[in-house]
Amino acid sequence: MKALAGFVVLLLLAPFALPAFYLTLLNYIGLYSLVALGLLLLTGVGGLTSFGQAAFVGIGAYTTAALSTGVIELPAALAWTQHSPWIALAAGLLLTFVVAIALGSMTLRLSGHYLPLGTIAWGISLYYFFGTFEQLGGQTGMSGIPAIELFGHPLVTAREMYYLIWAFVLIAALTTQNLLDSRQGRAIRALRGGVVMAEAMGVDTARSRMVIFVIASLQASASGWLYAHLQRFVNPSPFGLQYGIDYLFMAVVGGAGQVWGALLGATVITVSKQWLQDLLPQLLGRTGNFEMIVFGALLILLLQRSRNGLWGLVARAAARWLPKTRAKPRALPQAQALPRRPMPQRGEVVLEAKNVTRRFGGLVANNDLSLQVHAGEILALIGPNGAGKSTMFNQLSGVDTPTSGQVLLRGQSVAGRGSRAIARMGLSRSFQHVRLLPAMSVLENVAIGAHLRGKSSVFSAAWRLDRAEEARLLAEAAHQVERVGLQEHMFAEAGSLALGQQRTLEIARALASDPCVLLLDEPAAGLRLREKQALGELLSKLRAEGMAILLVEHDMDFVMGLVDRVVVMDFGQKIVEGLPHEVQQNPAVLEAYLGGVAP
Ligand code: ADP
Ligand code: MG
Repeated sequence: MKALAGFVVLLLLAPFALPAFYLTLLNYIGLYSLVALGLLLLTGVGGLTSFGQAAFVGIGAYTTAALSTGVIELPAALAWTQHSPWIALAAGLLLTFVVAIALGSMTLRLSGHYLPLGTIAWGISLYYFFGTFEQLGGQTGMSGIPAIELFGHPLVTAREMYYLIWAFVLIAALTTQNLLDSRQGRAIRALRGGVVMAEAMGVDTARSRMVIFVIASLQASASGWLYAHLQRFVNPSPFGLQYGIDYLFMAVVGGAGQVWGALLGATVITVSKQWLQDLLPQLLGRTGNFEMIVFGALLILLLQRSRNGLWGLVARAAARWLPKTRAKPRALPQAQALPRRPMPQRGEVVLEAKNVTRRFGGLVANNDLSLQVHAGEILALIGPNGAGKSTMFNQLSGVDTPTSGQVLLRGQSVAGRGSRAIARMGLSRSFQHVRLLPAMSVLENVAIGAHLRGKSSVFSAAWRLDRAEEARLLAEAAHQVERVGLQEHMFAEAGSLALGQQRTLEIARALASDPCVLLLDEPAAGLRLREKQALGELLSKLRAEGMAILLVEHDMDFVMGLVDRVVVMDFGQKIVEGLPHEVQQNPAVLEAYLGGVAP
């Protein structure tokens, strides 16, 4: 907070201390920062790589150029809006919104390298669009763009534009920061934990992707609007692919995932390019684009040295040189508990599989399998490797759909509902291979599980109107962290925990959704004896509270002392179902586990 206040004071004073040349440079840094901030959200946090953001800068710039110069004449009814930059800003943002939704719904579903390729494709096509239309001035561009008027005063000089540009940057930085520190922000950050995990926690991942894409595009468009009125002239060249790449570099070099990293990245790249451009030809005694060569080499070096960019280096240096302020136990918000769902009666069938078959081509991974899990019971699903346990788990949790047969959750078929809807119905799960966000605190990871218990919108998060709800969500998460015994690690990074603790964290995250049935895939794997005992105690406690629990487990000893009933699978089939000690003695089970050397 002190650092932020200092930063704002410096920004306010800069025009009085700096010559015009530096103010112009600062203006450009501001414009670039605005785009880089959007990319920080999109790429740094959400993991979606876009090379095409410069095109959105172009949309903002060209919309205002066309409207405020009167090149595009509006119908008589709207004529009063012509020549007003502010109305052109609104129009540009609206157009950007529409284009972003259209492009986003086509490209954001693409995975792997197809998404970046898609962004390159529309980056190029929008660039040529600007250059091809005669009305928009073709390659020559458009001049005569009027100055923005603020309170009747036209902003003509670099000094006058400076405050407006940096006001935009600060608002974007603060709203982005706020957003990241909220329920919606956790949903966005959860994208990095994989779609399966996020959806299982009730996060609409398609929507989260679209949200950050639209925000990034709107910020780029606003930057374009400011640019057009700063230059009073536009042509297509600053909206091409090369600039799209530069913007991406600013976000990545600055520091993936950090708001202030984006500002730092925009500053360092702009200043060092300028500097190298002046210096290198002098040093080498001839002209040429030497700065690009040196620049490329420096970028490679930096990315190789610090994957968290410059901000990562700064943070590391600060941790070394500044007095330790680490892991300050923040006060937990005191808040009213969230409402809970009515739990089923003890003994009620909560989850039921009826004759579930799942084929993969010719392989029958689950064959006509039926089972029931009751409220207040722990059922174990065991079997040797490859028996089909995880496949069954996926059918039950809605990640996969049976080839035939039915899964009923509290009497309702889950077929075709998707894991988000199933989470809403009261089923929650952990993962065989832990899926959490290592750089996020334990508390925040657990709070992802409570996603469906809040309603706050992106807008209210950005403007801090969600604090009452946020306090309740965090209090709930803290309660679950304590419940599983991780309270000492509440504010530690989840990635710093031992594997067993990470598994326990996943259980807390599942509990934060207030489920009535818990599905756990090998929760004891990798746990030490003490941790297994603690896990056993926790599960017993949950059972006593009426939770229905299905365990997929490999560890026979762990299962036998804990669970009420056991279903044993082999080759996709249920071979035995019964009480633990019955199953243990069963010849078919010994055969399956020991491969035919049963006594
Ligand atoms: P378990 O969890 O009991 O070790 P799995 O359910 O993972 O067993 O696997 C059961 C069988 O189904 C294995 O032979 C596995 O190779 C196969 N299998 C699982 N998932 C798929 C898939 N997506 N496509 C094809 N085969 C699969
Ligand atoms: Mg498995």
